[in-house]
Amino acid sequence: MENKFDINTLVRENVKLMKPYSSARDEFEDFDTAEMIFLDANENPFENGLNRYPDPQQTSVKSVLANQNGVAINQILLGNGSDEVLDLLFRAFCEPKIDNVITLPPTYGMYGVLANLNAVENREVLLSNDFQPQLELIMSAVDTNSKMIFLCSPNNPTGNSFSEGSVQYLLDNFNGLVLIDEAYIDFSDKASWIQKIKDYPNLIITQTLSKAYGLAGIRLGVCYASAAIIAVLNKIKPPYNVNELTQQRALDRLANPKQIKEEIISIIAQREQLLKVLSEVSFVSFIYPTEANFILIKVDNANQRYDELIAKGIVIRNRTTQPLCENTLRLTIGTAEENQKLIAALKSLN
Ligand SMILES: *Cc1c(COP(=O)(O)O)cnc(C)c1O
Repeated sequence: MENKFDINTLVRENVKLMKPYSSARDEFEDFDTAEMIFLDANENPFENGLNRYPDPQQTSVKSVLANQNGVAINQILLGNGSDEVLDLLFRAFCEPKIDNVITLPPTYGMYGVLANLNAVENREVLLSNDFQPQLELIMSAVDTNSKMIFLCSPNNPTGNSFSEGSVQYLLDNFNGLVLIDEAYIDFSDKASWIQKIKDYPNLIITQTLSKAYGLAGIRLGVCYASAAIIAVLNKIKPPYNVNELTQQRALDRLANPKQIKEEIISIIAQREQLLKVLSEVSFVSFIYPTEANFILIKVDNANQRYDELIAKGIVIRNRTTQPLCENTLRLTIGTAEENQKLIAALKSLN
């Protein structure tokens, strides 16, 4: 088990020393007191449903997520998409030009972009040919300035999830933070790692309402971690980072888990259907196993096939420039009708 982990050795010095911004709503947070007259935040007093600042701690949304996931409210941080959460992690823990992070390409491009933006070295350790973490190579890339390892599982763009043993090994042996990006977890049979945050003080899970929950437009990302990690992120987050409209729409959607579940089941059924018929397309040479709402395929010439599909009005993602992904295309699962059109288009090419 984890032994040398100490959150205080990981937090940047300026973050430790800084005094957080205290908003009007932080200083007096008893929102529901109907009797109170709020003259503290320079808001326009005329009610229109949105004239007040939103709850900076998004307590209503967090309560629902806490209940649904069996964690405490102080183990949750919400952000303007997971992208904001990831950026906060860099800013909290990685000293520019000194610290480094480990990413495992081919994977989600934002980890590298945020590393660059924050002037943090990105040590890339390729996945193996079957897209699993190469543990020995990772551990030899790690040094005392390695603050985070980014595991995207199920991984984008490959679609597979990482073996439980590999994740466990990194949690046990890496003394920095292990982030598991579970943007696609709802499309997988594998369990989320959320329940393990009580066992691993260095574990951080991110999820999002952008994929299975069907709300990419509202921008809501969720971070689950120990209360100690969440407290650090809370200290540095912009005070009103999740707007009122987003909080309201998230609450509406979260109140309807049955509908979400039905959509997920339908997307998975469509995925399985698409996997079968893709093998009938002559120029598809490999279909990668997937636990996400997309399929990565290898074709004869990805640039050519991409252009041909655009000409037929279908936009997919060309991943050919990614490491280990030469001549691959990533297809998002659409509706039954959209998928039929995709297959018809693919079969019409030769
Ligand atoms: C789509 C995606 C996200 C979602 O990011 P948001 O900012 O929450 O929309 C996060 N991680 C991965 C790997 C993704 O593919």
